[in-house]
Amino acid sequence: MATSALRTAIPRGFRRPSLLLRPGLLSAQNTSRRHFSDVSPTSIFHLTETEDMLKESVGRFARDVVLPKTREMDENEMMDKSIVEQLFEQGLMGVEIEEEYGGSGMGFGAVVVAIEELARIDPSVSVLVDVHNTLVNTAFRTYGSAALKEKYLPKLATGTVGSFCLSEPASGSDAFALQTKAVKSESGGSYKITGQKMWITNAAESEIFIVFANIAPERRYKGITAFVVEKGMPGFNIAKKEKKLGIRASSTCVLTFDDVEVPAENLLGEEGEGYKYAISLLNEGRIGIAAQMTGLALGAWENAVKYVWNERKQFGQYIGDFQGMQFQIAQARTEIEAARALVFNAVRTKEAGGVRAGEGFVREAAMAKLYASQVAQKVSGSAIEWMGGMGFVREGLAEKYWRDSKIGAIYEGTSNIQLQTIAKLLQKEYKQ
Ligand SMILES: Cc1cc2nc3c(=O)[nH]c(=O)nc-3n(C[C@H](O)[C@H](O)[C@H](O)COP(=O)(O)OP(=O)(O)OC[C@H]3O[C@@H](n4cnc5c(N)ncnc54)[C@H](O)[C@@H]3O)c2cc1C
Repeated sequence: MATSALRTAIPRGFRRPSLLLRPGLLSAQNTSRRHFSDVSPTSIFHLTETEDMLKESVGRFARDVVLPKTREMDENEMMDKSIVEQLFEQGLMGVEIEEEYGGSGMGFGAVVVAIEELARIDPSVSVLVDVHNTLVNTAFRTYGSAALKEKYLPKLATGTVGSFCLSEPASGSDAFALQTKAVKSESGGSYKITGQKMWITNAAESEIFIVFANIAPERRYKGITAFVVEKGMPGFNIAKKEKKLGIRASSTCVLTFDDVEVPAENLLGEEGEGYKYAISLLNEGRIGIAAQMTGLALGAWENAVKYVWNERKQFGQYIGDFQGMQFQIAQARTEIEAARALVFNAVRTKEAGGVRAGEGFVREAAMAKLYASQVAQKVSGSAIEWMGGMGFVREGLAEKYWRDSKIGAIYEGTSNIQLQTIAKLLQKEYKQ
Protein backbone atom coordinates (compact mmCIF):
# COMPACT_ATOMS: atom_id res chain seq x y z
CA MET A 1 0.00 0.00 0.00
CA ALA A 2 2.70 2.42 1.05
CA THR A 3 4.78 1.42 -1.95
CA SER A 4 2.09 1.99 -4.54
CA ALA A 5 1.10 5.28 -2.96
CA LEU A 6 4.72 6.27 -3.14
CA ARG A 7 4.95 5.53 -6.83
CA THR A 8 2.23 8.03 -7.55
CA ALA A 9 3.33 10.63 -5.00
CA ILE A 10 7.01 10.97 -5.84
CA PRO A 11 7.59 13.10 -8.90
CA ARG A 12 9.88 11.87 -11.62
CA GLY A 13 13.48 12.71 -11.00
CA PHE A 14 13.20 12.41 -7.23
CA ARG A 15 14.82 9.48 -5.52
CA ARG A 16 13.30 7.85 -2.50
CA PRO A 17 15.52 8.18 0.61
CA SER A 18 17.22 4.89 1.06
CA LEU A 19 19.64 3.92 3.73
CA LEU A 20 19.14 5.08 7.27
CA LEU A 21 15.42 5.22 7.42
CA ARG A 22 13.80 2.06 6.22
CA PRO A 23 10.03 2.35 5.94
CA GLY A 24 9.24 -0.83 7.81
CA LEU A 25 11.23 0.29 10.81
CA LEU A 26 9.81 3.71 10.83
CA SER A 27 6.11 3.29 10.66
CA ALA A 28 3.97 5.48 12.87
CA GLN A 29 3.08 2.27 14.70
CA ASN A 30 6.67 1.81 15.80
CA THR A 31 7.15 5.35 16.91
CA SER A 32 3.77 6.17 18.39
CA ARG A 33 3.88 6.73 22.13
CA ARG A 34 1.36 5.88 24.73
CA HIS A 35 0.15 8.43 27.22
CA PHE A 36 2.45 9.00 30.20
CA SER A 37 0.02 7.29 32.57
CA ASP A 38 0.22 4.03 30.58
CA VAL A 39 3.96 3.49 30.79
CA SER A 40 6.15 2.35 33.64
CA PRO A 41 8.50 5.01 34.96
CA THR A 42 11.74 5.02 33.05
CA SER A 43 14.71 7.30 32.37
CA ILE A 44 13.84 10.46 30.44
CA PHE A 45 16.66 9.47 28.08
CA HIS A 46 14.99 6.20 27.16
CA LEU A 47 14.61 6.02 23.38
CA THR A 48 12.27 3.86 21.35
CA GLU A 49 13.99 1.09 19.42
CA THR A 50 13.65 3.09 16.22
CA GLU A 51 15.03 6.29 17.77
CA ASP A 52 17.92 4.31 19.19
CA MET A 53 18.82 2.84 15.79
CA LEU A 54 18.52 6.26 14.21
CA LYS A 55 20.83 7.78 16.83
CA GLU A 56 23.44 5.15 16.07
CA SER A 57 23.26 5.57 12.30
CA VAL A 58 23.10 9.39 12.30
CA GLY A 59 26.06 9.48 14.69
CA ARG A 60 28.04 7.29 12.29
CA PHE A 61 27.00 9.44 9.32
CA ALA A 62 28.04 12.61 11.16
CA ARG A 63 31.44 11.21 12.08
CA ASP A 64 32.23 9.52 8.75
CA VAL A 65 30.68 11.90 6.22
CA VAL A 66 30.19 15.31 7.85
CA LEU A 67 33.23 15.60 10.11
CA PRO A 68 35.84 15.45 7.31
CA LYS A 69 34.16 18.50 5.71
CA THR A 70 33.27 20.49 8.81
CA ARG A 71 36.32 22.74 9.08
CA GLU A 72 36.45 23.42 5.35
CA MET A 73 32.74 24.32 5.20
CA ASP A 74 33.19 26.73 8.10
CA GLU A 75 36.22 28.39 6.50
CA ASN A 76 34.43 28.68 3.14
CA GLU A 77 31.15 29.76 4.78
CA MET A 78 29.41 27.31 2.49
CA MET A 79 27.42 24.13 2.91
CA ASP A 80 28.88 21.30 0.83
CA LYS A 81 26.33 20.26 -1.79
CA SER A 82 27.15 16.59 -1.40
CA ILE A 83 26.30 16.75 2.32
CA VAL A 84 22.85 18.10 1.50
CA GLU A 85 22.36 15.36 -1.11
CA GLN A 86 23.36 12.71 1.38
CA LEU A 87 21.03 14.10 4.05
CA PHE A 88 18.21 13.49 1.58
CA GLU A 89 19.61 10.08 0.63
CA GLN A 90 19.65 9.11 4.28
CA GLY A 91 16.05 10.16 4.78
CA LEU A 92 17.01 12.87 7.27
CA MET A 93 15.14 15.62 5.42
CA GLY A 94 11.75 13.96 5.69
CA VAL A 95 11.91 12.32 9.08
CA GLU A 96 8.26 12.92 10.00
CA ILE A 97 6.89 13.09 6.46
CA GLU A 98 4.50 10.22 5.90
CA GLU A 99 5.71 7.29 3.82
CA GLU A 100 3.00 7.89 1.22
CA TYR A 101 4.79 11.16 0.37
CA GLY A 102 8.23 9.55 0.26
CA GLY A 103 9.20 10.43 3.83
CA SER A 104 10.45 8.28 6.66
CA GLY A 105 7.23 8.34 8.69
CA MET A 106 8.91 8.64 12.06
CA GLY A 107 7.93 10.62 15.14
CA PHE A 108 9.08 13.93 16.59
CA GLY A 109 11.51 12.23 18.99
CA ALA A 110 13.38 10.89 15.97
CA VAL A 111 13.82 14.38 14.50
CA VAL A 112 15.25 15.60 17.80
CA VAL A 113 17.63 12.66 18.06
CA ALA A 114 18.90 13.36 14.53
CA ILE A 115 19.35 17.09 15.21
CA GLU A 116 21.30 16.38 18.40
CA GLU A 117 23.56 13.77 16.82
CA LEU A 118 24.40 16.04 13.87
CA ALA A 119 25.13 19.01 16.16
CA ARG A 120 27.63 16.91 18.12
CA ILE A 121 29.78 17.12 15.00
CA ASP A 122 28.48 20.11 13.03
CA PRO A 123 25.82 22.55 14.30
CA SER A 124 25.46 24.08 10.80
CA VAL A 125 24.39 20.79 9.25
CA SER A 126 22.18 20.25 12.27
CA VAL A 127 20.28 23.53 11.81
CA LEU A 128 19.76 22.84 8.11
CA VAL A 129 18.01 19.60 9.04
CA ASP A 130 16.24 21.23 11.98
CA VAL A 131 14.63 24.14 10.11
CA HIS A 132 13.68 21.94 7.16
CA ASN A 133 12.02 19.29 9.33
CA THR A 134 10.54 21.13 12.31
CA LEU A 135 9.41 24.34 10.60
CA VAL A 136 8.95 23.72 6.89
CA ASN A 137 7.85 20.08 6.68
CA THR A 138 5.66 20.47 9.75
CA ALA A 139 4.00 23.56 8.27
CA PHE A 140 2.97 21.60 5.17
CA ARG A 141 1.99 18.51 7.13
CA THR A 142 -0.11 20.45 9.63
CA TYR A 143 -1.65 23.28 7.62
CA GLY A 144 -1.24 22.35 3.95
CA SER A 145 -4.21 21.49 1.72
CA ALA A 146 -4.25 18.02 0.17
CA ALA A 147 -3.00 19.56 -3.09
CA LEU A 148 -0.10 21.39 -1.39
CA LYS A 149 0.92 18.21 0.43
CA GLU A 150 0.81 16.19 -2.80
CA LYS A 151 2.84 18.78 -4.63
CA TYR A 152 5.48 19.72 -2.06
CA LEU A 153 5.97 16.99 0.54
CA PRO A 154 7.53 14.48 -1.89
CA LYS A 155 9.97 17.17 -3.01
CA LEU A 156 10.79 18.19 0.57
CA ALA A 157 11.38 14.55 1.51
CA THR A 158 13.59 13.68 -1.40
CA GLY A 159 15.56 16.56 -2.83
CA THR A 160 14.37 20.12 -2.28
CA VAL A 161 15.40 22.23 0.72
CA GLY A 162 12.89 24.58 2.38
CA SER A 163 13.06 27.84 4.35
CA PHE A 164 10.81 29.51 6.90
CA CYS A 165 10.54 33.27 6.35
CA LEU A 166 9.11 35.27 9.23
CA SER A 167 11.76 37.80 10.41
CA GLU A 168 12.30 41.15 8.71
CA PRO A 169 14.66 44.09 9.16
CA ALA A 170 12.19 45.87 11.46
CA SER A 171 10.58 42.85 13.09
CA GLY A 172 12.67 40.35 15.05
CA SER A 173 11.49 39.62 18.57
CA ASP A 174 8.34 41.57 17.71
CA ALA A 175 7.80 39.19 14.80
CA PHE A 176 4.16 40.04 14.17
CA ALA A 177 5.00 43.66 13.39
CA LEU A 178 6.10 42.36 9.99
CA GLN A 179 5.71 44.76 7.04
CA THR A 180 5.63 42.39 4.08
CA LYS A 181 2.25 42.69 2.40
CA ALA A 182 0.15 40.44 0.21
CA VAL A 183 -2.65 41.78 -1.99
CA LYS A 184 -5.31 39.48 -3.39
CA SER A 185 -6.17 39.86 -7.06
CA GLU A 186 -9.70 40.92 -7.96
CA SER A 187 -10.48 37.50 -9.38
CA GLY A 188 -9.17 35.88 -6.19
CA GLY A 189 -6.91 33.66 -8.29
CA SER A 190 -3.62 34.95 -6.92
CA TYR A 191 -1.82 37.19 -4.40
CA LYS A 192 1.02 39.65 -4.95
CA ILE A 193 3.67 39.75 -2.22
CA THR A 194 5.87 42.78 -1.63
CA GLY A 195 8.44 43.26 1.11
CA GLN A 196 11.67 41.99 2.58
CA LYS A 197 12.72 39.10 4.80
CA MET A 198 15.91 38.90 6.81
CA TRP A 199 17.98 36.19 8.48
CA ILE A 200 16.50 33.34 6.46
CA THR A 201 18.22 30.04 7.21
CA ASN A 202 18.91 27.64 4.30
CA ALA A 203 17.90 30.33 1.79
CA ALA A 204 20.94 29.76 -0.44
CA GLU A 205 20.08 26.06 -0.78
CA SER A 206 16.29 26.34 -0.72
CA GLU A 207 13.77 26.23 -3.51
CA ILE A 208 10.63 26.30 -1.37
CA PHE A 209 9.92 29.20 0.99
CA ILE A 210 7.14 29.58 3.52
CA VAL A 211 6.58 33.33 3.60
CA PHE A 212 4.49 35.22 6.15
CA ALA A 213 2.85 38.38 4.78
CA ASN A 214 0.03 40.61 5.94
CA ILE A 215 -3.12 40.71 3.79
CA ALA A 216 -4.96 43.15 6.08
CA PRO A 217 -2.53 45.43 7.94
CA GLU A 218 -5.45 47.28 9.55
CA ARG A 219 -6.22 44.05 11.40
CA ARG A 220 -2.60 43.97 12.61
CA TYR A 221 -1.33 40.50 13.43
CA LYS A 222 -4.71 39.01 12.51
CA GLY A 223 -3.91 39.79 8.85
CA ILE A 224 -0.79 37.64 8.84
CA THR A 225 -1.06 34.87 6.27
CA ALA A 226 1.33 32.13 5.16
CA PHE A 227 2.19 31.49 1.50
CA VAL A 228 4.35 29.05 -0.40
CA VAL A 229 6.81 30.86 -2.66
CA GLU A 230 9.10 29.04 -5.07
CA LYS A 231 12.57 30.05 -6.14
CA GLY A 232 12.37 31.48 -9.63
CA MET A 233 9.00 33.21 -9.23
CA PRO A 234 9.39 36.62 -10.93
CA GLY A 235 10.19 39.40 -8.44
CA PHE A 236 11.65 37.07 -5.79
CA ASN A 237 15.36 37.51 -5.07
CA ILE A 238 18.06 36.51 -2.63
CA ALA A 239 19.58 39.93 -2.03
CA LYS A 240 22.45 39.14 0.33
CA LYS A 241 24.12 36.29 2.19
CA GLU A 242 25.21 37.27 5.71
CA LYS A 243 28.77 36.79 6.99
CA LYS A 244 28.46 35.43 10.50
CA LEU A 245 30.31 34.71 13.73
CA GLY A 246 29.15 31.10 13.93
CA ILE A 247 27.22 28.37 12.07
CA ARG A 248 29.00 29.81 9.08
CA ALA A 249 28.27 26.90 6.75
CA SER A 250 24.56 27.47 7.28
CA SER A 251 23.30 30.10 4.85
CA THR A 252 21.45 33.11 6.29
CA CYS A 253 20.05 35.50 3.69
CA VAL A 254 18.06 38.63 3.00
CA LEU A 255 15.17 38.02 0.60
CA THR A 256 13.26 40.59 -1.40
CA PHE A 257 9.76 40.30 -2.84
CA ASP A 258 8.74 42.74 -5.52
CA ASP A 259 5.13 42.06 -6.53
CA VAL A 260 5.73 38.33 -6.49
CA GLU A 261 2.61 36.70 -7.89
CA VAL A 262 1.64 33.59 -5.98
CA PRO A 263 -1.29 31.44 -7.15
CA ALA A 264 -4.19 31.18 -4.70
CA GLU A 265 -3.53 27.46 -4.28
CA ASN A 266 -0.21 28.40 -2.63
CA LEU A 267 -2.03 29.91 0.33
CA LEU A 268 -0.92 27.77 3.27
CA GLY A 269 -3.89 27.13 5.54
CA GLU A 270 -6.27 30.04 5.90
CA GLU A 271 -6.08 33.79 5.45
CA GLY A 272 -5.30 35.62 8.69
CA GLU A 273 -4.26 32.48 10.55
CA GLY A 274 -0.54 32.84 9.86
CA TYR A 275 0.33 34.19 13.31
CA LYS A 276 -1.18 31.12 14.96
CA TYR A 277 0.77 28.82 12.65
CA ALA A 278 4.02 30.70 13.34
CA ILE A 279 3.53 30.50 17.12
CA SER A 280 2.77 26.81 17.01
CA LEU A 281 5.60 25.94 14.60
CA LEU A 282 8.15 27.92 16.58
CA ASN A 283 7.12 26.23 19.82
CA GLU A 284 8.04 22.95 18.22
CA GLY A 285 11.09 24.41 16.47
CA ARG A 286 12.46 25.58 19.80
CA ILE A 287 12.82 22.01 20.98
CA GLY A 288 14.88 21.38 17.85
CA ILE A 289 17.15 24.33 18.62
CA ALA A 290 17.49 23.12 22.21
CA ALA A 291 18.61 19.73 20.85
CA GLN A 292 21.05 21.46 18.53
CA MET A 293 22.53 23.15 21.60
CA THR A 294 22.77 19.99 23.74
CA GLY A 295 24.39 18.16 20.82
CA LEU A 296 26.84 21.04 20.43
CA ALA A 297 27.65 21.06 24.17
CA LEU A 298 28.23 17.33 24.16
CA GLY A 299 30.43 17.58 21.06
CA ALA A 300 32.53 20.37 22.61
CA TRP A 301 32.87 18.44 25.88
CA GLU A 302 33.86 15.19 24.13
CA ASN A 303 36.35 16.97 21.90
CA ALA A 304 38.05 18.49 24.95
CA VAL A 305 38.11 15.41 27.20
CA LYS A 306 39.68 13.36 24.42
CA TYR A 307 42.56 15.82 24.55
CA VAL A 308 42.93 16.41 28.29
CA TRP A 309 42.44 12.78 29.33
CA ASN A 310 44.40 11.08 26.56
CA GLU A 311 46.78 13.41 24.78
CA ARG A 312 48.17 16.39 26.70
CA LYS A 313 50.56 15.97 29.61
CA GLN A 314 52.00 18.69 31.85
CA PHE A 315 53.90 18.26 35.11
CA GLY A 316 54.30 14.58 34.17
CA GLN A 317 50.61 13.69 33.97
CA TYR A 318 47.54 14.10 31.78
CA ILE A 319 46.16 17.59 32.41
CA GLY A 320 42.63 16.18 32.81
CA ASP A 321 43.82 14.13 35.81
CA PHE A 322 44.37 17.25 37.93
CA GLN A 323 41.49 17.61 40.34
CA GLY A 324 41.08 21.26 39.34
CA MET A 325 40.27 20.04 35.81
CA GLN A 326 38.28 16.96 36.82
CA PHE A 327 35.80 18.99 38.84
CA GLN A 328 35.15 21.40 35.98
CA ILE A 329 34.73 18.53 33.53
CA ALA A 330 32.31 16.71 35.85
CA GLN A 331 30.33 19.91 36.49
CA ALA A 332 30.05 20.60 32.76
CA ARG A 333 28.83 17.09 31.95
CA THR A 334 26.25 17.31 34.74
CA GLU A 335 24.90 20.53 33.25
CA ILE A 336 24.75 18.94 29.80
CA GLU A 337 22.72 16.04 31.19
CA ALA A 338 20.38 18.50 32.95
CA ALA A 339 19.85 20.36 29.68
CA ARG A 340 19.25 17.07 27.82
CA ALA A 341 16.69 16.09 30.44
CA LEU A 342 14.79 19.33 29.73
CA VAL A 343 14.97 18.65 25.99
CA PHE A 344 13.66 15.09 26.21
CA ASN A 345 11.04 16.16 28.73
CA ALA A 346 9.85 18.73 26.16
CA VAL A 347 9.83 16.05 23.43
CA ARG A 348 7.81 13.58 25.47
CA THR A 349 5.46 16.30 26.73
CA LYS A 350 4.78 17.33 23.15
CA GLU A 351 4.22 13.72 22.09
CA ALA A 352 1.82 13.23 25.00
CA GLY A 353 -0.11 16.36 24.00
CA GLY A 354 0.94 18.43 27.03
CA VAL A 355 0.65 17.91 30.74
CA ARG A 356 -1.14 21.11 31.82
CA ALA A 357 -4.59 22.04 30.56
CA GLY A 358 -4.47 24.66 27.82
CA GLU A 359 -0.70 25.02 27.87
CA GLY A 360 0.55 22.31 25.53
CA PHE A 361 4.31 22.08 25.71
CA VAL A 362 5.12 25.80 25.53
CA ARG A 363 6.73 26.01 28.97
CA GLU A 364 8.80 22.87 28.45
CA ALA A 365 10.04 24.02 25.04
CA ALA A 366 10.97 27.51 26.28
CA MET A 367 12.82 26.16 29.33
CA ALA A 368 14.69 23.60 27.24
CA LYS A 369 15.84 26.17 24.68
CA LEU A 370 16.80 28.75 27.28
CA TYR A 371 18.83 26.39 29.41
CA ALA A 372 20.37 24.33 26.61
CA SER A 373 21.69 27.46 24.90
CA GLN A 374 23.17 28.70 28.19
CA VAL A 375 24.86 25.35 28.83
CA ALA A 376 26.15 25.14 25.25
CA GLN A 377 27.79 28.54 25.51
CA LYS A 378 29.26 27.88 28.96
CA VAL A 379 30.60 24.39 28.24
CA SER A 380 32.04 25.21 24.83
CA GLY A 381 33.73 28.29 26.34
CA SER A 382 35.23 26.26 29.19
CA ALA A 383 36.34 23.54 26.77
CA ILE A 384 38.55 26.08 24.97
CA GLU A 385 40.27 26.93 28.26
CA TRP A 386 40.74 23.25 29.19
CA MET A 387 42.64 22.78 25.93
CA GLY A 388 44.82 25.89 26.37
CA GLY A 389 46.33 27.22 23.14
CA MET A 390 45.11 24.18 21.22
CA GLY A 391 41.56 25.20 22.03
CA PHE A 392 42.09 28.67 20.64
CA VAL A 393 43.43 27.85 17.18
CA ARG A 394 41.40 27.04 14.11
CA GLU A 395 43.16 23.70 13.62
CA GLY A 396 40.70 21.88 15.82
CA LEU A 397 37.00 22.38 16.45
CA ALA A 398 36.97 23.78 20.02
CA GLU A 399 36.80 27.44 19.01
CA LYS A 400 34.17 26.64 16.38
CA TYR A 401 31.82 24.99 18.86
CA TRP A 402 31.94 28.15 21.00
CA ARG A 403 31.29 30.47 18.04
CA ASP A 404 28.44 28.22 16.93
CA SER A 405 26.92 28.19 20.43
CA LYS A 406 26.15 31.93 20.42
CA ILE A 407 23.23 31.58 18.02
CA GLY A 408 21.26 29.38 20.43
CA ALA A 409 20.37 32.40 22.53
CA ILE A 410 19.18 34.37 19.50
CA TYR A 411 17.15 32.50 16.88
CA GLU A 412 13.62 31.13 17.22
CA GLY A 413 13.11 33.58 20.11
CA THR A 414 15.96 35.14 22.09
CA SER A 415 16.70 34.07 25.66
CA ASN A 416 14.85 37.15 26.96
CA ILE A 417 11.79 36.13 24.96
CA GLN A 418 11.97 32.58 26.40
CA LEU A 419 12.22 34.06 29.91
CA GLN A 420 9.23 36.28 29.17
CA THR A 421 7.19 33.27 28.02
CA ILE A 422 8.17 31.19 31.05
CA ALA A 423 7.41 34.04 33.46
CA LYS A 424 3.99 34.66 31.87
CA LEU A 425 3.01 31.01 32.25
CA LEU A 426 4.26 30.88 35.82
CA GLN A 427 2.35 34.05 36.67
CA LYS A 428 -0.81 32.51 35.27
CA GLU A 429 -0.36 29.67 37.68
CA TYR A 430 0.79 31.53 40.78
CA LYS A 431 -0.30 35.17 40.59
CA GLN A 432 -3.58 35.91 42.34
C1 LIG B 1 21.77 33.00 12.05
C2 LIG B 1 20.34 33.35 12.13
C3 LIG B 1 19.40 32.53 11.52
C4 LIG B 1 18.04 32.89 11.57
N1 LIG B 1 17.12 32.14 10.88
C5 LIG B 1 15.84 32.59 10.74
C6 LIG B 1 14.92 31.95 9.86
O1 LIG B 1 15.23 30.93 9.24
N2 LIG B 1 13.68 32.47 9.73
C7 LIG B 1 13.28 33.60 10.40
O2 LIG B 1 12.16 34.01 10.22
N3 LIG B 1 14.14 34.23 11.25
C8 LIG B 1 15.40 33.75 11.43
N4 LIG B 1 16.29 34.40 12.27
C9 LIG B 1 15.85 35.59 12.97
C10 LIG B 1 15.79 35.40 14.47
O3 LIG B 1 14.68 34.65 14.83
C11 LIG B 1 15.84 36.79 15.11
O4 LIG B 1 17.17 37.25 14.96
C12 LIG B 1 15.45 36.78 16.55
O5 LIG B 1 14.08 36.54 16.69
C13 LIG B 1 15.80 38.10 17.26
O6 LIG B 1 15.38 39.18 16.52
P1 LIG B 1 16.42 40.40 16.24
O7 LIG B 1 17.66 39.81 15.69
O8 LIG B 1 15.70 41.39 15.43
O9 LIG B 1 16.74 40.95 17.67
P2 LIG B 1 15.87 42.06 18.50
O10 LIG B 1 14.44 41.65 18.50
O11 LIG B 1 16.21 43.40 18.01
O12 LIG B 1 16.48 41.83 19.94
C14 LIG B 1 17.72 42.38 20.36
C15 LIG B 1 17.81 42.22 21.88
O13 LIG B 1 16.69 42.88 22.51
C16 LIG B 1 16.06 41.97 23.37
N5 LIG B 1 14.61 42.21 23.42
C17 LIG B 1 13.76 42.45 22.40
N6 LIG B 1 12.51 42.56 22.84
C18 LIG B 1 12.56 42.39 24.19
C19 LIG B 1 11.59 42.37 25.24
N7 LIG B 1 10.29 42.54 24.98
N8 LIG B 1 12.01 42.16 26.51
C20 LIG B 1 13.32 41.96 26.79
N9 LIG B 1 14.27 41.96 25.84
C21 LIG B 1 13.90 42.17 24.56
C22 LIG B 1 16.34 40.59 22.78
O14 LIG B 1 16.20 39.56 23.76
C23 LIG B 1 17.77 40.76 22.29
O15 LIG B 1 18.64 40.53 23.37
C24 LIG B 1 17.63 34.03 12.27
C25 LIG B 1 18.59 34.84 12.90
C26 LIG B 1 19.93 34.51 12.82
C27 LIG B 1 20.93 35.43 13.48
